Amino acid sequence: MFPSYRGRFAPSPTGPLHFGSLVAALGSYLDARAHQGVWLVRMEDVDAPRTAPGAAEGILRTLEDFGFEWDGAVVWQSQRLDAYAAALQQLKESGLAYACACSRREIGDSATRTAIDGGRVYPGTCRNGLPAGSTARAWRLRTTGDETAFEDRLQGRIAQRLEQDVGDFVLLRADGLYAYQLAVVVDDAAQGITHVVRGADLLDSTPRQIWLQRCLSLPTPSYAHLPVACNAAGEKLSKQTRAPGLRRERAAAELTSALAFLGQQPPSELAEASLAEIWRWAFAHWRFDLIPRQRNFLVQSKSSILDRQGAGS
Ligand SMILES: [Zn+2]
Repeated sequence: MFPSYRGRFAPSPTGPLHFGSLVAALGSYLDARAHQGVWLVRMEDVDAPRTAPGAAEGILRTLEDFGFEWDGAVVWQSQRLDAYAAALQQLKESGLAYACACSRREIGDSATRTAIDGGRVYPGTCRNGLPAGSTARAWRLRTTGDETAFEDRLQGRIAQRLEQDVGDFVLLRADGLYAYQLAVVVDDAAQGITHVVRGADLLDSTPRQIWLQRCLSLPTPSYAHLPVACNAAGEKLSKQTRAPGLRRERAAAELTSALAFLGQQPPSELAEASLAEIWRWAFAHWRFDLIPRQRNFLVQSKSSILDRQGAGS
């Protein structure tokens, strides 16, 4: 019998694992274990030009060093291009995907609105066929003005009208790479994922993924979007904002900080405990309902999270 809960952690190997991705790994892992579920790791390396050499191996080593235990073999998106091609073919045959000849500049010149993710809303130039004399650069998915909505376990009801909020979005990019949105939907379905727990930086992508699931006749998992760790400037901790990579010798302190960030109330002495004790505490005390229901959450310094929690308990 399949377990009724299948979760996953799906990092992009653009650099070392940092505190922000540790929070996502920890939240998805503890939620899966609390449901006696399966927890899978998928390496989202479909965007090869953004992949840093050795980063994927480094992320897996750090997860191991920190005591995470995933089920089954790691899935690599770079080895699943045939599956993405098949999904795109299915969308072409059903008339939902169409070729687009527009350059980024042409879209910028013609689009009138800013998309929900900060890009430009695609104005639908090629919806009814390529303009004469032009050649296909990318493939896009047809959207509608109807509401695509879901109930997030943490962030509440999220709704978008994709045609207005995003526009027909890219499935196969002009550089020949499959878009993240397509890859993640195909992979979640192939791995039988029932529960997605990830950072709220992906919240605005979720209606696109649900729309794609419907177009491909795939099931929609349950979603929970964790608050994203931000620095004082309001920027997500990431390689781009020079978030430091996690070090093995600080595993206890980092895990304890990540538990505190997720609203759990670890005793401050846990930061000095063995990894076995930390995981014992985490499995025994994990409470999903304590996670802050926010999109962003400031990390001033990680010790201050613990101090505040210590003061309040
Ligand atoms: Zn176009």
